[in-house]
Amino acid sequence: MRHVGQVLEDFGWPWGFRLELIKRDETTLNSSDLQKHVASPTELTGRVIAITGASSGVGRAVSLACARHGANVILVGRNARKLEEVHTEIEAAGGPEPIIALLDLEKALAKDYDQLADAVMQKYGRLDGLLHNAGLLGALSPIEHYDVPTWCRVMHVNVTAAFALTQVLLPALKKSTDASVIFTSSGVGRRARAYWGAYSVSKFALEGFSQMLSAELDGITAIRVNTLNPGRVRTMMRRTAYPAEDINTLPLPETVTGPYIALLGPATHGVTGQQFDCQPAA
Ligand code: NDP
Repeated sequence: MRHVGQVLEDFGWPWGFRLELIKRDETTLNSSDLQKHVASPTELTGRVIAITGASSGVGRAVSLACARHGANVILVGRNARKLEEVHTEIEAAGGPEPIIALLDLEKALAKDYDQLADAVMQKYGRLDGLLHNAGLLGALSPIEHYDVPTWCRVMHVNVTAAFALTQVLLPALKKSTDASVIFTSSGVGRRARAYWGAYSVSKFALEGFSQMLSAELDGITAIRVNTLNPGRVRTMMRRTAYPAEDINTLPLPETVTGPYIALLGPATHGVTGQQFDCQPAA
């Protein structure tokens, strides 16, 4: 942990105003620190955490893990039946009662986002964690033949909806004393590969958005912003992307939740603007 002490930042305003910013610990961690972190059973107790795509795959596993570590989870998704199953599982395991927020990221309008933000403020008065996990793969195809409507859907769900949800929830995040925003990345969001089309571009966009938001909020709020790449995981999306792969060789979503807990909890207080991986490089 590296203490950098008091930070003076020049805002570059026309009259050369210099603002003395709050004292904060600027911390540098790497992915292996997150992977090795052992969370206590009460690591997230009292934290309110919203997770998109909580209905299946990685989002479902992280939702269950967050509740197991004491968080009040807001299960965000488009499929009520699947979300209710996750809700039931959390309750059956004795976790704090989660709430379900139905939001189809492809179709949601401004009023739907506003409703969600109002509900969060009314019930909890703040938000301590926001995991943007929902994602669309779209098609794997050469750019020359990439279907334009598919491109627009993928960019909308993966990027524009994440922006809109972040924006509308910023007031609730600002009420937290230690809020963590995580954007879910991918290997192809850090190094592009042929044929990954809009999915790859959307993940690059999230990396850029995360850096920008982190820089905007650093020092003036208690909100930290990072990206996390789950790596190869046995989910529907992975199966669609690699239909010929033997799924038994892939880790289950439950095995990659540790770094999510670390990044949402107090262990990473002050860590912002970084990229992390849930799994060691292959
Ligand atoms: P899944 O396909 O299992 O989960 C995707 C989630 O996104 C589902 O909960 C799905 O909801 C939700 N979603 C999709 N479209 C919408 C929408 N319009 N509105 C609301 N929710 C929506 O995939 P993963 O669990 O694998 O993916 C989770 C994240 O991890 C994604 O961001 C993905 O890019 C990333 N990732 C995954 C990797 C892997 O190997 N699995 C590798 C690298 C990154 P529903 O259940 O209703 O379909």
